[in-house]
Amino acid sequence: MWNQSSRCANFIIKRQPGLGGQAGLRRWLSAPRLCVVGGGPAGFYTAQHLLKHHDRAQVDIYEKLPVPFGLVRFGVAPDHPEVKNVINTFTQTARSERCSYYGNVAVGKDVTVGELQQAYHAVVLSYGAEDNRVLGIPGENLAGVHSARAFVGWYNGLPENQHLKPDLSCETALVLGHGNVALDVARILLSPLDLLRRTDITASSLAALACSKVKRVWLVGRRGPLQVAFTIKELREMINLPGARPVLDPADFTGLGNAVKDAPRPRKRLTELMIKTALEKPAEKTEAAAAREWGLRFQRSPQEVLPTADGTRARGVRMALTRLEGSGDSAKAVPTGEVEELECGLVLSSIGYRSLPLEPALPFDPQHGVIPNSSGRVLGAPGLYCSGWVKRGPTGVIITTMNDSFDTAQSVLEDLQAGVLDVSAPREGFGAVGSILRSRGVRPVSFSDWEKIDAVEVARGKAAGKPREKIVDPEEMLQVIGH
Ligand code: FAD
Repeated sequence: MWNQSSRCANFIIKRQPGLGGQAGLRRWLSAPRLCVVGGGPAGFYTAQHLLKHHDRAQVDIYEKLPVPFGLVRFGVAPDHPEVKNVINTFTQTARSERCSYYGNVAVGKDVTVGELQQAYHAVVLSYGAEDNRVLGIPGENLAGVHSARAFVGWYNGLPENQHLKPDLSCETALVLGHGNVALDVARILLSPLDLLRRTDITASSLAALACSKVKRVWLVGRRGPLQVAFTIKELREMINLPGARPVLDPADFTGLGNAVKDAPRPRKRLTELMIKTALEKPAEKTEAAAAREWGLRFQRSPQEVLPTADGTRARGVRMALTRLEGSGDSAKAVPTGEVEELECGLVLSSIGYRSLPLEPALPFDPQHGVIPNSSGRVLGAPGLYCSGWVKRGPTGVIITTMNDSFDTAQSVLEDLQAGVLDVSAPREGFGAVGSILRSRGVRPVSFSDWEKIDAVEVARGKAAGKPREKIVDPEEMLQVIGH
């Protein structure tokens, strides 16, 4: 790992000769005013690194929603509270005297990136991936078919998904995808209510899950067991889920024990766990009499969501059976010509999130769904940077996002130090942006405002025996802080 302190801008400034040392240099250079677009992990980690390694930089974070933390609040599963501890670090960053948080400001709508560039020496785009990939098959828009992204947003209190109303009156749900998000949604569908009740899942989704008839979830992937993208921790959680038993077909794993012998250790352990689970006889399972069940279906590619007789909603999915060409991660699923129909009343497609361009004129690579960049420097746009999912695509955990955000921040620091970013003239920062927002009737939410919302949520949660009861309506969030 590189030594951050030896690369920090302060260190280099102190060594500049002929300018009367650091104090001399400071007379000539104004404090860098920097801003970050997006208050998720990428935004906070970028700000953290900039503040830590430049002792005069001021960093403003603009967030579309009144509340901060992006997918840590709206993506991470409610039964994974330990993952949300990163919020403590983000809070420390936000409380820094040189950092300000402005929620309730949608960049691209309330203020343009061009206007931010006028107001700041550098702008970092960290606005994540707010859309999802689509299946592109007939029937995808039938009632009963949702993206896993919307379903996750629904149970996690994301305002835009509060009207989703997934129909949980069917017995079988199909999750298309073999990643961690697919396992998250399957687990939430099958978890005992008593476990969920103690989490920060929203009251309305808990009420809907309490009436759920779903007792079987199939997770379907186009490729085989050696290509699954979920991790062992999430698989183990599913296997140990109280009241639900795994149904894996031993035939799917024939010969894989040998094939995986020389595979990297995580893949080997993951495959061995699937094989062990598949080979266990039902009688050996403590959950043999479980009322609920789940299973992995491999080498099946969805062709069509089938409608009910009256054409109003989903009744199943027609799958093309596939064979694999090639091996390992690069193996391709090719249809064999055989098809199969799986009956289900709920389809959740979990085939990936997707970033969108913030403004039409900004550089964007639609094919890969990322902002084209080199080490976080947006190509063809001096002074503009990017970090997080919008920089590298919607994969990887929070630690991955932290590392790439630190790398982007480092590029900003290097450009400051090398004079690529011109800080000879001061910039007004929020002074200018605040006037623009006022003129457009936009009232930003400060971090201390968020802390008031937080306190209300925690108090409401306490009354219900939960860590928090999220406020799901942005209007109510604003009312709580007297906006
Ligand atoms: P985001 O978290 O999406 O943050 C982007 C922020 O930008 C959002 O707050 C958004 O509101 C804001 N924004 C968007 N548009 C604008 C705009 N126009 N103006 C201003 N602000 C804007 N990782 C783990 O380590 N452990 C887990 O258990 C885990 N679970 C996950 C579960 C799910 C369902 C998902 C989808 C991801 C999970 N991850 C997990 C991955 C982790 O959430 C991501 O690595 C991380 O959130 C990406 O950070 P980001 O800041 O790039 O994007």
